[in-house]
Amino acid sequence: MSLILYNTLTRTKEAFTPADPARVTMYVCGPTVYNYAHIGNARPAVVFDVLFRLLQARYPKVVYARNYTDVDDKINAAAKEQNIAIEVITRKFMAVYQEDMAALGVLTPTVEPCATHHIAEMVAMIEALVAKGHAYEAEGHVLFNVPSFEGYGQLSGRNRDDMIAGARVEVAPYKKDPADFVLWKPSTPDLPGWDSPWGRGRPGWHIECSAMIEKHLGETIDIHGGGHDLIFPHHENELAQGTCAHGGAPYARVWMHNGFLTMSREKMSKSLGNIKTVHELLADAPGEALRWALLSAHYRQPLDWSDETVTQAKRTLDGAYRALEAVASINAKATQAPAAMLEALDDDLNTPRAMAEIAASVKALNSASDAGEKARLKGELLAAGALLGVLQQNPADWFADQTKAVDGAQIEALIADRNAARKARDFKEADRLRTAIAAIGVVIEDRPDGTTKWRMAE
Ligand code: AMP
Ligand code: ZN
Repeated sequence: MSLILYNTLTRTKEAFTPADPARVTMYVCGPTVYNYAHIGNARPAVVFDVLFRLLQARYPKVVYARNYTDVDDKINAAAKEQNIAIEVITRKFMAVYQEDMAALGVLTPTVEPCATHHIAEMVAMIEALVAKGHAYEAEGHVLFNVPSFEGYGQLSGRNRDDMIAGARVEVAPYKKDPADFVLWKPSTPDLPGWDSPWGRGRPGWHIECSAMIEKHLGETIDIHGGGHDLIFPHHENELAQGTCAHGGAPYARVWMHNGFLTMSREKMSKSLGNIKTVHELLADAPGEALRWALLSAHYRQPLDWSDETVTQAKRTLDGAYRALEAVASINAKATQAPAAMLEALDDDLNTPRAMAEIAASVKALNSASDAGEKARLKGELLAAGALLGVLQQNPADWFADQTKAVDGAQIEALIADRNAARKARDFKEADRLRTAIAAIGVVIEDRPDGTTKWRMAE
């Protein structure tokens, strides 16, 4: 069966056929590195990681680039506010992002280019746009002239007025058209800047992705991805400048956008102040549970995040790891994921359906009786898990990690207090302590010999 992907550009699901099956190319807009990524920012990283795995299973070579935006006005503002060098901020948060994504089981992309290492390529692309009459210099700025590209608006489907309002573009006097956007802008001595034919300055946001795509992937790429909020203006502008710089060659063949992660149905975003960082969530839950939760909704649908989403994900993974633990002594048969699971992922990355198939595999494994059947089902379950980037840990490690996450001494102390309360026939206090222990996620069992055992709740 072929891989079907929804293309934002054509607004339809299409069979995916790479331009060159020997070298499939994908680019995803990465983070602006000036603070901790929130779990909404992690959604595109995890979603496109599943696509990366799926493509790698089908094609011999997949070149996947995900960038770091390390020059941006928000970074400059953060550096000024904290009175530290820009590089200190960007280096720190790049490392944090890499750690966080690794904890979520996200594979390292083939290339992770930084914008500041590609200034020469950006300048060259801007020069090409000026030479072709698609861009012009005005007061130290270089602007892309939107009316010079007939296809402008095709990705977002916006009309001119919406575009101008949506981009909140500054109607600067030096612009030929209010929709024109910045490719290059002048820098003051206190801001990062590079020499250019237009004086010392820095790039606009959109040009960085186009320059890095050209350098690492080529003029036309197979897949371009990012969050839904990037369709306009960022991707519309990338498409315009990339197409014009390359004499009309298509910029990206398939455009994919993930839906928003929300909290109480509102988009998670720093400006609204309703964020949960990956870093803080990892303190309370295994990365694999966060990953499972992120994939529990179809990537184009909104995903409403709550503590319950994570609890539910952890419970499901506990069940799958328990099934694998029961067959720990049986060697898995080398096999593919079940056909139904592959079909679900091939259908525009239908992860909820793929997860239902994983649940069916777990059930089948639990009820299998002969060893050959168990070896086959275990192999299928592990192969299915590998495509989603889950269930690859040793089950004992999965359960041990969770035991580590709770403070054993604290639980022993609570149990001792409870036993003392029971001895003193203070059953109200004993019940209160039992509830407190349960709240930590621990189940206790009173043994006939008078001792109390504890284990993590399922
Ligand atoms: P930023 O660092 O803000 O440029 O965002 C990095 C990536 O996260 C982009 O692809 C955004 O579209 C995506 N993103 C930001 N907020 C959300 C959200 N609440 N839900 C899903 N994706 C998001
Ligand atoms: Zn981008």
